[in-house]
Amino acid sequence: MDVHESALELIGRTPLVRLRTPDDGRSAPVYAKLEYLSVGGSIKDRIALGMIEQAERDGLLRPGGTVIEATSGNTGAGLALVAAAKGYRAVLVLPDRTSAEKIATLRAFGAEVEVRPAGLPAEDPEHPLNVAARIAEQTPGAWLAGQYDNPANPGAHYLTTGPEIWRQTDGRITHLVSCIGTGGTISGTGRYLKEASGGTVRVIGADPASSVYSGGDGRPYFVEAAGHFRHPETVEDVWPQSYHQDVVDDVLPVTDRDSLLTVRRLAREQGLLVGGSAGTAVAAAERVAAGLGPDDLVVVILPDSGRQYLSKYFDDGWLLRLGFLDGDGSAARVGDALPAAVRAQPLPYVNRRATVGEALALLRARRAGGAEPVLPAGPCPTGGERRPTAPELSGSLALDTLTRAVELGQIAPGDPVGDHLGAPLPQFGAGQPAVAALAELTERGVETAVVLHDGQAVGLIGPQDLHAVLRAAGAAR
Ligand code: PMP
Repeated sequence: MDVHESALELIGRTPLVRLRTPDDGRSAPVYAKLEYLSVGGSIKDRIALGMIEQAERDGLLRPGGTVIEATSGNTGAGLALVAAAKGYRAVLVLPDRTSAEKIATLRAFGAEVEVRPAGLPAEDPEHPLNVAARIAEQTPGAWLAGQYDNPANPGAHYLTTGPEIWRQTDGRITHLVSCIGTGGTISGTGRYLKEASGGTVRVIGADPASSVYSGGDGRPYFVEAAGHFRHPETVEDVWPQSYHQDVVDDVLPVTDRDSLLTVRRLAREQGLLVGGSAGTAVAAAERVAAGLGPDDLVVVILPDSGRQYLSKYFDDGWLLRLGFLDGDGSAARVGDALPAAVRAQPLPYVNRRATVGEALALLRARRAGGAEPVLPAGPCPTGGERRPTAPELSGSLALDTLTRAVELGQIAPGDPVGDHLGAPLPQFGAGQPAVAALAELTERGVETAVVLHDGQAVGLIGPQDLHAVLRAAGAAR
């Protein structure tokens, strides 16, 4: 019989499929390793099994025990599935930015899920990693998987992913391209392939452009589960021990726009429905292949399926709202209300650690300049070139409310504004229709909104700006 005895036997052993690349025929062939075909739907099944079986061998996890982890989803699904198949309880802590589909998947496997706010500094006691560590301390029989620092994470890829690729390509692979999250995939797979090839295989990381691994400042980005985000208030930025930099020859930055447009292309043109980090990896692999010849062979790792991101990367509305799509150019768009000169200036913005006195000065200067005295505020540093990203527009300040709070003695001019922020301002993608944005502002009675391009704030607009572009568009017709 050609059968398997449990779901655990269906982890890994994923196929390689040739990708059609823009330079196909002239450049190196690119083969994609389809990790979404593993039984739990992602590459993380491998490390879930590897880490749990190592913990069993080490006596850290015993029958009746509880598996605990802070995870953005795929490791959780892997752990929940292996825990279910082996009869353990699983408790998983996730940031609230995680897609609803991923959270539902964990619950479907019977895991208990704790959701905590995303975007907290690493030191915050409510940061998912700190919450998971606390639960592990307080739960008898608990074992914290700790994928960021667990040697069994890169170890699982050294033992499975690397040998599979070597065997499947008959030892002809010359370049490996992979995203870096915990670093387990690239470190374990890369180390095996370097050893097997006598050191000739080149290992290339693909990284969201603002992630720190490729030299970015760590600001938020929109591709889930890859790269390394650094909160501006994080004091000491610690990199995972699962990431072995000595194995990696180069790390290429890939913009969110490139990653997202690449995953959409893979689905529409090649029938491969994969997640955002696969877009990051393929965009980098295409760049690598373009510089190589037909005797080289590139393998790129596609970590998970696009099904769990249908409401994000594959939803035009989501992309349009964040400014990743340019919209319908035949009608007036929100971005048309923002002259190039305004876009080129830094966005007026208040860091939440600024004092009330500093914020009042900025708001008064705005009123004196004839603008609405309202500003977006949040954790983004101010003063440099850096523009706040959509999740950093977490609050707002209005001159009236702040002045009143000072007069009533609720806050002193020397206090930080952070505890007194109002609701975030509405956000519109530059490609959204101006008519719809104006209707929303009018309905909400709001005078200031933020315009986003590629997920970053590029300017502030009000109803009068939208009226102006609509009038101009009407006159041109
Ligand atoms: N992409 C996806 C979808 C993932 O779930 C992960 C794991 N967080 C990665 C990429 C990065 O893999 P690794 O943690 O092994 O570096």
